[in-house]
Amino acid sequence: MHEKCGVVGIALEDRDAARPLYYSLYALQHRGQESAGIVTHDGFQQHSHVEMGLVGDVFGPGDLESLNGPNGIGHVRYPTAGSVDSCCAQPFSVSFKSGSLGLSHNGNLVNADEIRDELAGLGHAFTSDGDTEVIAHDLARNLLEADLVRAVKRTMSRIHGSYALTIMHDDTVMGVRDPEGNRPLCIGELEDGYVLASESAAIDTLDGELVRDVEPGELVVLHDDGTGYDSYQLVEQENTAHCFFEHVYFARPDSTIDENLVYEVRRELGRALWDESGVESDVVLPVPDSGRAFASGYAEAAQDQGADIEFAEGLMKNRYVGRTFIMPTQDERERAVRLKLNPIKSTIEGKTVTIIDDSIVRGTTSTQLIELLKDAGAEEVHVRIGAPEIISPCYMGIDMATREELIAADRTTEEIRDDIKADSLSYLSIDAIAETLGEGHDDLCLGCVTGQYPYDIDGEETDREVDRPVIGDQTIEADD
Ligand code: AMP
Repeated sequence: MHEKCGVVGIALEDRDAARPLYYSLYALQHRGQESAGIVTHDGFQQHSHVEMGLVGDVFGPGDLESLNGPNGIGHVRYPTAGSVDSCCAQPFSVSFKSGSLGLSHNGNLVNADEIRDELAGLGHAFTSDGDTEVIAHDLARNLLEADLVRAVKRTMSRIHGSYALTIMHDDTVMGVRDPEGNRPLCIGELEDGYVLASESAAIDTLDGELVRDVEPGELVVLHDDGTGYDSYQLVEQENTAHCFFEHVYFARPDSTIDENLVYEVRRELGRALWDESGVESDVVLPVPDSGRAFASGYAEAAQDQGADIEFAEGLMKNRYVGRTFIMPTQDERERAVRLKLNPIKSTIEGKTVTIIDDSIVRGTTSTQLIELLKDAGAEEVHVRIGAPEIISPCYMGIDMATREELIAADRTTEEIRDDIKADSLSYLSIDAIAETLGEGHDDLCLGCVTGQYPYDIDGEETDREVDRPVIGDQTIEADD
């Protein structure tokens, strides 16, 4: 199950957390449109409201009022073809012998099946095939034998893969980031409390200040009374595996992730794209909205170097059409592109055009756009892409496509150019990504562009020494 989601957790001094949680979920809506949910705790009991749908539809009048308590967590879940299923909506909550547990997860475990089998053998009953429930059960089990911090550490030593979690144990709200820091998670300070969120844009929405990113392998426990937080570095890892695709496509441009403002990263990548493979044309058009920051950086670099290129908004987006990936069939995806984007003829007719997008996955968008632009009178259509060729699937939580569906999986760039009928096509290099993010290749997850993953995934190659935990020993050692 590929869970590409948004998570949040809040502890406040003296007011209900439901409304700020609701606003933060709105800020994270782009990270998941399938379901939304909030779980709060009022010091005595949990309150939960989780449903399928967009944040604005899930919470009606009265729902927020019934979510009492100053502490809580929230979640928005990304739609994955074939798994539109209310069982997987989150936060996931369970009650067990030593209290209640709520869990919001962004990421994807690669050894969830092993742990589920083991726990099922020990009598745990599972209601979904999702990996979040696996984490919840494992943690609940460890909490029977150990205090909170040791229990979380124990669970972290057993799960392998990507996870940014917000957890609520009774009324204690926590955040955990996997030892490789694959998915983002940050801490923010509010006037009367603290917040943990997938992206800093959620903190801005609450008028808070970004304090810092949660470190890879770190557990952050918010004080129940909203006055501070404690940090525990539970796992040390030599290298990180930050997902570069968060910066390229997924995150909001106004979020700061691992100390980089996403908008500036995209503009910088656009500049690098001109430096690496700039092509003279009359006009540069962004593919809205994902290509916009790349295109402005690209056009700026071109103009800096004296190229006579106009930057124009030649493609209008219908903002009411959802992301094309929600469409389950290829035919619907193609129709969706046409519904979503319409060319402005005057900026295109009789001109040579360069379109800039962040990525090519299946090739649907670029194929359709090139046809559209040629129909609108473009003389040439060049395509520049702000990411390298995506050749392998993502197992770490981004719903991309299967290997068979990826246009670059088994084709050269020239073959892709020919397929999508572009006059020229260039992708950005992996080096430009690493350099712009200020990180070495060995601190990034580049699995989708190299086919080499930083985790031990069945049937795939890995680019580093990784220790997949051996599952089977449930005893917590005294020095754990
Ligand atoms: P495709 O049309 O299949 O080549 O997909 C590329 C387009 O989808 C680009 O415009 C991207 O901005 C967008 N895109 C890339 N990755 C994703 C994703 N994981 N989910 C939804 N859209 C995406």
